[in-house]
Amino acid sequence: MADGKKLEKILVPLEVGRAGEHDIRIRWNDSSESIYIARKLRMECPCAHCVDETTGRRILKEPAIAMDVRPAAIEPVGRYGICIHWSDGHSTGIYTWEKLYGLAQR
Ligand SMILES: [Zn+2]
Repeated sequence: MADGKKLEKILVPLEVGRAGEHDIRIRWNDSSESIYIARKLRMECPCAHCVDETTGRRILKEPAIAMDVRPAAIEPVGRYGICIHWSDGHSTGIYTWEKLYGLAQR
């Protein structure tokens, strides 16, 4: 992509960090900032174990998630998102910037 103007319109995080012990903070390039509660983000995991790929129905049930779940590690995935390694051992979900930004607006 050589078109610089086009790139500017793409929403990207300037910083992905922690907020407290459990939560995740993202600072976006539109100068907004979002805080994600760890357990809520774990619930939103988009992987095939948590969401039925055909129907889009959520397989993961909220009570199944540990109350104190937190990100053990946050790993960048290409330029489009992050993979969160959760303290419950789950790490197959990729959270795209688009999804994260969408969650922040709710
Ligand atoms: Zn998952």
